[in-house]
This record gives sequence, structure tokens and C-alpha cells, in this order.
Amino acid sequence: MILLEYFRKNNVCHHDKVTPEKDVAYCPNCGELIENQWYITRCSCCGVKLKAIIKNGEVVPEAHYCHNCGFKSFIVERVNKINFIDINYAVLVKAVIKPSVDEITQSWCDVGDAYNPKLIGNY
Ligand SMILES: [Zn+2]
Ligand SMILES: [Zn+2]
Repeated sequence: MILLEYFRKNNVCHHDKVTPEKDVAYCPNCGELIENQWYITRCSCCGVKLKAIIKNGEVVPEAHYCHNCGFKSFIVERVNKINFIDINYAVLVKAVIKPSVDEITQSWCDVGDAYNPKLIGNY
């Protein structure tokens, strides 16, 4: 409960209710359209997969050096369809999609006044 209060006060949503099974979904907590994006990192020298983590909002390898060749630099690769092998290396980024003006108009007409998720959490 302390965590929840903290998030509300700072108006930061971690989109925890958006499950990774869906590619794209609206967050029930903040109303943003969220795309689940999977990323892995690879050594830019030998190409071996390195376990990815998110640090300061960026996808980086967990290890500072490649465990295979000792090289320092890496590449970040987007995975379109996550599989059971890559999931051990991948990080999930919940990216907020900003729809175009046309799409906003359409979605707010559909949602109506009865249910406006943007109001939740704004006291
Ligand atoms: Zn959210
Ligand atoms: Zn390497």
C-alpha cells in the first residue's frame, strides 16, 4: 500500500496491469496505450546473446563484458515474437504509444464519459 501511494503522488504508472501476453493493450491504471516490446542484447564482437536489463531507462547487458570473448560493446536487438529461449535474455519494455489525433478522437468517442481511465489517480 505504501508503494501504491507513492506512485499516485508522483503520478508515475508502471503499467503493471498490462500483461506481457498481449502485444498492445490499454493500461487500466492510466489509460495509456502500451506496447510490450522485448529486447535482447548481443555482443557486437562475437554476437553471443547477453542477458539484458533496464538501467536508467535504457536496455543494456547485465554484464559489463562479454562472457564469451571479453568484448565491451554490445548491440540491442528488438524481438518481435518472444520465445522460450530468448525470454531468459530479454527485457520487457512497456512503451507508451501516442496515437495520432484521428485515433484519439475515435477512441474517446467509443469510451464515453462513463469510463475515463485518465481520471483515476488524479485527485
Ligand atoms: Zn499505466
Ligand atoms: Zn563476445
